Amino acid sequence: MVHPDIEKVFRTAGEIHERVGELAEEIGLIYGDREIVALCVLTGGVLFFADLVRCLGGTVRLAFAKAASYHDGTRPGDLTVDLLSGEDLAGKDVLIVEDIVDTGRSLVGIRRALRAFSPRSVRTVVLLDKKARREVDVDVEFTGFTVPDEFLVGFGLDHAGRYRNLPYVGILRRTVYEGCD
Ligand code: 5GP
Ligand code: MG
Repeated sequence: MVHPDIEKVFRTAGEIHERVGELAEEIGLIYGDREIVALCVLTGGVLFFADLVRCLGGTVRLAFAKAASYHDGTRPGDLTVDLLSGEDLAGKDVLIVEDIVDTGRSLVGIRRALRAFSPRSVRTVVLLDKKARREVDVDVEFTGFTVPDEFLVGFGLDHAGRYRNLPYVGILRRTVYEGCD
């Protein structure tokens, strides 16, 4: 059953599952036999991460990070990245796993902050890319779906902490966040 706050399902659980499998294959072709560190950017990336790492064939370490803006967030790069798992990234091939890229500012900041850990390489996989809203250039090596300029929730994405558990990605009804019916 679709949650009543959802205007429309953008991608079903089945469609996401299929695409995650394809992404894992694309990723496998790039890394070959090399061990990778899959870095989950909490909290939004967590469902995508859990599905993706189970499809990756090679040797994979799991790491978790929390990104936070420490200024007003208006300049790309004004971010700190706290590694929560204590995984050593030095010399490692790091794959950032993100839910969505929108303006690109968060990802630019995360990639910049990760340099401090001296990884061998950094690549990014995002489930959703809101391409039309990009404000800064950022490399995204693997993309699940290009999405329209709508507010999406589900499969890790929230609105005020809700809807992350939905097994699909849906467009949230405007009445939910515009506060009127
Ligand atoms: P960016 O820095 O690329 O503009 O923004 C990335 C962040 O904005 C995401 O990690 C997410 O928290 C938030 N965001 C952007 N678009 C959406 C959306 O459609 N739905 C939700 N729930 N969050 C979004
Ligand atoms: Mg995110």
